[in-house]
Amino acid sequence: MTRRSAASICPYCAVGCGYYLEVEEGRPVGIRYMPEHPTCEGALCPKGNAVLDVLNSRDRLRYPLKRVGEGWERISWKEALDLVAKGLSESLRDHGPASLGFLASSRCNNEENYIFAKMARILGSPNVDNCARLCHAPSVVGLGGSLGTSAMTNNIADLADSKCIFAIGTNLAEAHPVVSKWVQRARDRGAKVVVADPRVTSTSWMADLHLRLRPGTDMDLLRGMMRAVIDFGLVDRRFVAERTTGFEELSRSLAGWSVDEAAKACGVPAADITRAARLYAGSSASALLYSMGITQHVCGTENVRACADLALISGQVGRPGAGIMPMRGQNNVQGTCDVGAIAEFYPGYRSSTDPASIDIFKEAWGVPDLPLGPGLTSTEMMEAAVDGSLKAMYIIGEDPAVCDPNTGKTRKALEGLEFLVVQEIFMTRTAEMADIVLPAAAWAEKDGSYTSMERRVQWIDRAIAPPGKAREGLSIICEVADRLGLQLGRPDAPSVLEEIRRTIPAYGGMTRERIGEIGGLLWPCPSPDHPGTEILHIEGFPTPDGRAKIAVVRGRPPAEETSPEYPILLTTGRIVLHYNNAAMTSRSFPLLRREGDLHVEMNREEASALGISEDDPVVVSTRRGEVEAKARLTDRVIPGVAFMPFHFNDANLITSDALDPISKIPEYKVAACRISAKSEEVLRRR
Ligand code: SF4
Repeated sequence: MTRRSAASICPYCAVGCGYYLEVEEGRPVGIRYMPEHPTCEGALCPKGNAVLDVLNSRDRLRYPLKRVGEGWERISWKEALDLVAKGLSESLRDHGPASLGFLASSRCNNEENYIFAKMARILGSPNVDNCARLCHAPSVVGLGGSLGTSAMTNNIADLADSKCIFAIGTNLAEAHPVVSKWVQRARDRGAKVVVADPRVTSTSWMADLHLRLRPGTDMDLLRGMMRAVIDFGLVDRRFVAERTTGFEELSRSLAGWSVDEAAKACGVPAADITRAARLYAGSSASALLYSMGITQHVCGTENVRACADLALISGQVGRPGAGIMPMRGQNNVQGTCDVGAIAEFYPGYRSSTDPASIDIFKEAWGVPDLPLGPGLTSTEMMEAAVDGSLKAMYIIGEDPAVCDPNTGKTRKALEGLEFLVVQEIFMTRTAEMADIVLPAAAWAEKDGSYTSMERRVQWIDRAIAPPGKAREGLSIICEVADRLGLQLGRPDAPSVLEEIRRTIPAYGGMTRERIGEIGGLLWPCPSPDHPGTEILHIEGFPTPDGRAKIAVVRGRPPAEETSPEYPILLTTGRIVLHYNNAAMTSRSFPLLRREGDLHVEMNREEASALGISEDDPVVVSTRRGEVEAKARLTDRVIPGVAFMPFHFNDANLITSDALDPISKIPEYKVAACRISAKSEEVLRRR
């Protein structure tokens, strides 16, 4: 019996943990920890420990499928690819390239996403995007605007050198569990931990100071902290003078604002705001961590810029232990944006609205013309499908019918398309709506590179064969492109990596051999002899004048307010056992057994006043619809606030689709809701 180990990467979150896949007779039979991995050091969270359940699931898509009435017919690859090419070409011919939308996948590797975005743009459509739109588009735009680049400034292990860690809008102990190991290590070395979150969470348990702000008031808190930094003389004057612009304007904008007003607005005592500011700005090395609690708001981009402002005026960037850490979600969401599968950018963050970018890629790709952007974002594609201007979509590894906010609207949008093709590993809700479903290889079944949230680019080789007739995504995309008459050839993943190295300077030194070593390399790595970059901005910022830009930020209130009919603010987030739409984690019995249903956390006293007991079935209603959940009574949320994980039972049917006008991210984090016992809701309707 032949048994071997293959180095692999976790397919869930963007921490990028490594492990070995144990393969026997071509089948995955176990995992072995990887203590030499620089980020995880052999650790995996429950999801990472359960990856075999995805690879071995009987539910994997194995054959190309064609919709026939309400059912599916198994078809050959030739027929499937011909039908995909026909569907896309008909929209192209009848309605022009802007009628096509392409949704890339942050679960797929860099090579697939690069080629997918290249295909879309050579076809003439600027409409290519990925699920960063739903999590960190405000970082791409906001942090990019402040620092010149939107990625984590420091590597994850560097957190151990921080003297203060300020985590705002991130429950990292559940969403990025392995990162909490590094936070704990810093704490063991004496660092102070400050957590800003409306809820008591596993992360706030680690905190020396927990700021329990009201949902949607992050800007008030951040402006209050900046006010305190200025008032207490904690501005790093030298850093501000030598390395930034815009401080005077920010300072003037805060002139009419006080810590007391901030306290009133966000519900955090003024003394705690001041203490947080002193801990953060006064330490010799502070890290600021944020995630979707900051970004998923109508002022998400401004929230990100406020985080950057706080770090910049405090001089907490560009040193070991001092940096800004946007905690990204999907395993390759960083790489998918890096390689240009995003509406605002061609590969390497070259603006899609800049004619110079078009010229660069016309030459690199040997084509006479390319579309100027920005194309439609994923959220705008759904609007365009509703108004009829978007006619066809090619979606890879994304499930907008479950993951978008206000999914009732998204489903109508997808239903209205003339043609929908979905390339997937499981039959998701979105795949169920497709005309053609293409079965794709999962991460361990194909070659390619992934870029984690710390800019770590890691290559994995195919360890096992895909199930049934499923194929590697790269070859599927190239065959579709072939049939559409594009000259992309049939490159394998190493050849695409070579093209990425030529077109994206930060990847220039990332040969397959180098990033195939355990731990890979962190970008920028411009040449084959460059060691990669653990900490950004030590010397300067990649902006035209080499300085970071401090922005004036004011924010705006959430799009929804409570009312007598909807008196509770609902916020959503992750739990440690599941991931996004749970398409993968729900294939793991151990994970499902521990948490398999939608629940809503309610304040104990509030629930009691409503006659709701632990585990009661309740109906959670918002202005968009309702879902059923089990009540979980707790003191983790204050009265007037409820929390729901978004993994099950169509939770996003009721979330808000109000958009941040800059980054177009939806405001998942604030919705006014009503929670009633199920029996009450039945009576109400009579
Ligand atoms: Fe996977 Fe993230 Fe868990 Fe690491 S922390 S094992 S990358 S889900």
